[in-house]
Amino acid sequence: MSTTVVDLRSDTVSLPTAEMRARMAEAIVGDDVYGEDPTVTELESKTAAIFGKEAGLFVPSGTMGNLLAIMVHCHRRGAEAIVGDLSHIFLYEQGGAAHLAGVQLATIRNQPDGTFSLQELRHKIRNYKDCHEPVTSLVVVENTHNICGGKVIPLAYLDELAALVREPGVGITRIALHMDGARVFNAAAALGVSVERITRDFDSVSVCLSKGLSAPVGSVLVGSKDFIAEAHRLRKALGGGMRQVGILAAAGLVALEQVVPLLVKDHERTKRIAAGVDKLRSPNVVVDMPSVQSNILLLQITQPKLAADEFANRLGVVEPEEIAAGVTDKQGAGIVLKASARDWEFMRLVLYHQVDDEQVELAIKKLTYVIKQYDARWP
Ligand SMILES: *Cc1c(COP(=O)(O)O)cnc(C)c1O
Repeated sequence: MSTTVVDLRSDTVSLPTAEMRARMAEAIVGDDVYGEDPTVTELESKTAAIFGKEAGLFVPSGTMGNLLAIMVHCHRRGAEAIVGDLSHIFLYEQGGAAHLAGVQLATIRNQPDGTFSLQELRHKIRNYKDCHEPVTSLVVVENTHNICGGKVIPLAYLDELAALVREPGVGITRIALHMDGARVFNAAAALGVSVERITRDFDSVSVCLSKGLSAPVGSVLVGSKDFIAEAHRLRKALGGGMRQVGILAAAGLVALEQVVPLLVKDHERTKRIAAGVDKLRSPNVVVDMPSVQSNILLLQITQPKLAADEFANRLGVVEPEEIAAGVTDKQGAGIVLKASARDWEFMRLVLYHQVDDEQVELAIKKLTYVIKQYDARWP
């Protein structure tokens, strides 16, 4: 039995485009540790310009970008960074802040919209006038918020946050703001504003080229000249000094030029899949339409006898009856839909550059069939 695969586990499975491969082959390169790779320099300065910041630094991963930001902003011993309790930095970066930077992370509860309470933040910021306390030196916002389902952080909230940390008397040292903007271009596409506006009041931003932007590797960290100079030094210590890395930066340039303008399409397609599930009015699998804001879709499993990973596994299997029922592509191949479980309750689907309209239709077909199977079993 032949099958066709629609892989919506993550936007990290996105592939370099033909144009990226062509530009990679032709890229003019040099030893970037000597500062002699013109393609890397171009990517760094173009990204900085897009964000309205002074300088940029190409790093191997978003994890390294975030870690460098923490290291530079929290250079003083006994420094603390405040991050959301559902943030990537807290959940998925191996506690690198403690592990490698000697920085204490304090968590603040993330709300379902990806924000945290600013009132709570005000009380969490610590002031070293009291010698018992660490010094709050950094606050991090994730945008879009991954675990919360690609939530776009509202501009008014960001403005209020910036006003709060800049208020005289809030913190003794200046508190820096970092945005984990792994998907900040998705936030900009969803809001119809520039990334520069979103990150205006942030001292630094880390943006991934290798997620929805479809480049094979890399992130860019942007900020002031002084901030980037320090991050550049520390990147070498972390083993992130790369040599003829213009090969990779070339793909990043194509991502900025050609993939960023198409992100709105990923969002439209994500909403289309969401609407396809919503239409079923299933008592077992539900979608909250207003929560579908960018390229991440969370499906909530309301049936207690069904775990999200079982649902995901079922979508990856083609049963013979499906073929008979016409749940196939145009050539009659069965549909393997790859998805991931966020936890026991939510299944996660993520769209990216290579997921086209046809794949969206196949995903809806498969979801409809499997959800109807569940609904027949648990009406
Ligand atoms: C993927 C991701 C990162 C880390 O990026 P890597 O390149 O995988 O290290 C950081 N923050 C968020 C929100 C992410 O989704």
